[in-house]
Amino acid sequence: MIGTGYVGLVSGVCLADFGHEIVCIDKDEAKLALLRDGKTPIFEPGLDALLARNMAAGRLSFTSDLRAAIDGVQVVFIAVGTPSRRGDGHADLSYVFSAVQELAEVLTDHVVIVTKSTVPVGTSRKVAELMRATNPAQDFDVVSNPEFLREGAAIDDFMHPDRVVVGVQTDRAAAVMQAIYRPLTDRGFPMLVADLETAEMVKYAANAFLATKVTFINEMALLCERTGADVKAVANGMGFDQRIGPKFLQAGPGYGGSCFPKDTRALARIGQDHAAPLQIVETVIKVNEEVKRVMIDKIIDLCDGHVRKKSIAVLGLTFKPGTDDMRDAPSLTIVPALVGQGADVRVVDPQAFREAEDLLPGVTWHDDAYTAVQGADLVVILTEWDDFRTLDLARLAGSMAEPRMADLRNVYHCDDAVAAGFSYYTGIGRKSVM
Ligand code: NAD
Repeated sequence: MIGTGYVGLVSGVCLADFGHEIVCIDKDEAKLALLRDGKTPIFEPGLDALLARNMAAGRLSFTSDLRAAIDGVQVVFIAVGTPSRRGDGHADLSYVFSAVQELAEVLTDHVVIVTKSTVPVGTSRKVAELMRATNPAQDFDVVSNPEFLREGAAIDDFMHPDRVVVGVQTDRAAAVMQAIYRPLTDRGFPMLVADLETAEMVKYAANAFLATKVTFINEMALLCERTGADVKAVANGMGFDQRIGPKFLQAGPGYGGSCFPKDTRALARIGQDHAAPLQIVETVIKVNEEVKRVMIDKIIDLCDGHVRKKSIAVLGLTFKPGTDDMRDAPSLTIVPALVGQGADVRVVDPQAFREAEDLLPGVTWHDDAYTAVQGADLVVILTEWDDFRTLDLARLAGSMAEPRMADLRNVYHCDDAVAAGFSYYTGIGRKSVM
């Protein structure tokens, strides 16, 4: 497993749990040192125990030495990052191609090279071309096996997937992939075997569709506010329809995270490059940026039109609960805007500190919501961590200079917030008192 990040580590640990012998490779020595010590460098529920179990069973090891690790392996997964390329939104494939190049230089026996990273259509063929150019004598197969796990539920998603998708060119590669995932397919989890291009496309299409669903309800929420409808009830009413389903219909401050923003941008570029512009995806990207700006305006409105010298407590920074990943979190747009306009911003997040400390200069960190709101003019709920779902609202309101709340995840109801002493409350797409 080349690349031991959120996807590589979870996949490596879970594949080891299936009984396979896994060597995880990374260039980050600090990460490897933690892992060899049995410690996980990321926050992911359930990962520690699974890591310990499979290390103890001798099926899982960690190294930076690709040449040594590769000796005798049948399959190499590539799970390195594919961030947005600066400036143009294309997926940056430099990590994938350098991993392939390094691999080509040390391979001797036949291997199946599996791209698990999210990559544009055509990348697996480019991987094969690079292999042939670097090591013409090498016998290999290429496979696309995109990953659909969600951070915060990654182990469960890997162990109970809605589907496994593999793109192959040969029966030999298909048989190897079927053997790897047999513990899942034997339990009835479906496996789609397709060609390389189809498998690569499924991943982007699925992520773009989900980002569209989230953005659709976020835009509906803005209309609900103008019309007096309640977006939570609207989403329920829509979600009961089995053709729609209830998931990804929670209005919020915009999608974020390590996948939706970069994958929608990359897909839009793929469409443009192939003269098949994806107007829906391009609009989703624009609307999502707009939603974040609307959130900043909401906060400013709640503070009587300006945030200069106002104390604002922000609860939650990660793009969703259950992860410490800060990549493209809406908080990275919203919090700096408030700091930039002169607000005194205090922040609380159960997991974000290590990742977010450097990304959010000028804020004050607090350990819990109650200390963060002491004397504050506004409290903003930005991520719906469980800690923030069970707050004593009266205690919160009682310790604030101005009991005002911007509940950007619709955790509470306006009437309850007002009953607890909040003089102003706004959710998203539902009743507010302002
Ligand atoms: P990440 O940044 O957490 O991890 C990537 C790791 O690869 C890092 O530890 C880095 O040090 C290592 N690396 C880079 N180049 C290397 C090389 N040449 N040799 C060895 N190690 C190398 O990234 P991630 O979030 O795990 O994402 C990986 C891929 O999976 C991306 O393409 C992403 O789009 C996709 N994906 C991510 C998620 C998610 O929820 N994070 C879900 C599905 C798919």
